[in-house]
Amino acid sequence: MPAHREKNSEERNHKNIQNDTQASQVQWGRAWEVDWFSLASILFLLMFAPLIVYYFIMSCDQYQCSLTDPLIDLLMGNKHLSDIWNKTPTLTYTAAGIYIIWVAFQVILYMFVPDFCHKFLPGYVGGVQEGAVTPAGVVNKYEINGLQAWIITHVLWFANAYYFHWFSPTIIFDNWIPLLWCANILGYVVSTFAMIKGYFFPTNAKDCKFTGNFFYDYMMGIEFNPRIGKWFDFKLFFNGRPGIVAWTLINLSYAAKQQELYGQVTNSMILVNVLQGIYVLDFFWNEAWYLKTIDICHDHFGWYLGWGDCVWLPYLYTLQGLYLVYHPVQLSTASAIGVLMLGLIGYYVFRTTNHQKDLFRRTNGNCRIWGKKPEYIECSYMSVDGTKYYSKLMTSGFWGWARHFNYTGDLMGSLAYCLACGFEHILPYFYIIYMTILLTHRCIRDEHRCFSKYGKDWKLYTAAVPYRLIPGVF
Ligand code: NDP
Repeated sequence: MPAHREKNSEERNHKNIQNDTQASQVQWGRAWEVDWFSLASILFLLMFAPLIVYYFIMSCDQYQCSLTDPLIDLLMGNKHLSDIWNKTPTLTYTAAGIYIIWVAFQVILYMFVPDFCHKFLPGYVGGVQEGAVTPAGVVNKYEINGLQAWIITHVLWFANAYYFHWFSPTIIFDNWIPLLWCANILGYVVSTFAMIKGYFFPTNAKDCKFTGNFFYDYMMGIEFNPRIGKWFDFKLFFNGRPGIVAWTLINLSYAAKQQELYGQVTNSMILVNVLQGIYVLDFFWNEAWYLKTIDICHDHFGWYLGWGDCVWLPYLYTLQGLYLVYHPVQLSTASAIGVLMLGLIGYYVFRTTNHQKDLFRRTNGNCRIWGKKPEYIECSYMSVDGTKYYSKLMTSGFWGWARHFNYTGDLMGSLAYCLACGFEHILPYFYIIYMTILLTHRCIRDEHRCFSKYGKDWKLYTAAVPYRLIPGVF
């Protein structure tokens, strides 16, 4: 457990020693007051994020993935918006059928197939697991069975592609824009439902936050952990499936399309499939650990997560594969090895950093990091009911190099996917640009939250580890 409730006299002494930090620790969680910048960003995203996704996918469909040609066409008067819109495939019954079956299948795997992977895979943590303490002091239980859902889905996918032939493995690519409309419908329905639920029948009223600003509440969410019944957890389901299970299937569909169009799959497509496949598998292998990440521990469930998981993630995180269908880049052996090494080193840094924190928190510091007992800063915080908790911030291992070295590894891996696509177009580089903005913003957001949570103790930590992402630079 990451935190320990105050129970014994030793802890009470500790409380006295740290009393002076309490004043700054009463507010923990998402901001109650919405500043103008947050509101402007939220309105911008609500209005433009769906258009951005459409623009990227449309530019591949109609302009061979050029991001500038549609704009030039419009500015020069060669085309009107209506010409582009009229050429865009509409929602079809086929796509609606595929999407409903897909989501229903993932719901069945999530709700009705208890995890069996943890029974035979050594080291894998699955089955019923506990999340972190919420601001209201609740500890939720989760059925961790994402790895199993991923395996079953992919076994069926390969069985179909090589044996049953019920549908073409290019099915996702072939219906990509009609499926976009389905994903949008689900994203908006889920986010709107979550908002209504937060007002009228929240799972835990004490863990709801109302800022009074409709747009902020819709975007960032009201309920912390909305659930239907005891087990259907919105955050865990929508974060992982259908988006992340689909990620690798989407890439496989792109590879199948390359095979169909050009009679071969390029080494760049294989690299993108392998490197992103490792990332996705890592996510499911560590799904229990994921319960302790910001998305589950700190974010409320609104449009940001609901729509983002249904639309933004599957459509924009897979742009490299989509690009390679239109531009089948074959890298030289040296470039391919370079991209592979960058991707693997990035993954190693990402995983090791996350593992170090997880080990440290699970053992309450009684572990070894790089062969030594870890160093840390003791800290304390309070939940809304006034209970005081104690925690530790590690200053050893990669956590002594920078405060978010896990993000640095993530960014190295992200850059590798983009480099696999060569340098002809900017579109595949969207991912590294977006991840840099996302993770830098996340860093700042997380540090703001940690400061409100730990107060002076957090300041001690930032003095001990002064850099965020790159030691000596930022
Ligand atoms: P972290 O795993 O870095 O978690 C941050 C939290 O860890 C802090 O809020 C704090 O929580 C605790 N913490 C901070 N410093 C320390 C320390 N020195 N010692 C111990 N605990 C500490 O962040 P995320 O949850 O954002 O990210 C998890 C992973 O997911 C990252 O590797 C990230 O790259 C990846 N990610 C990927 C995304 C994608 O779209 N591909 C999006 C977002 C994340 P506490 O309150 O418990 O103290």
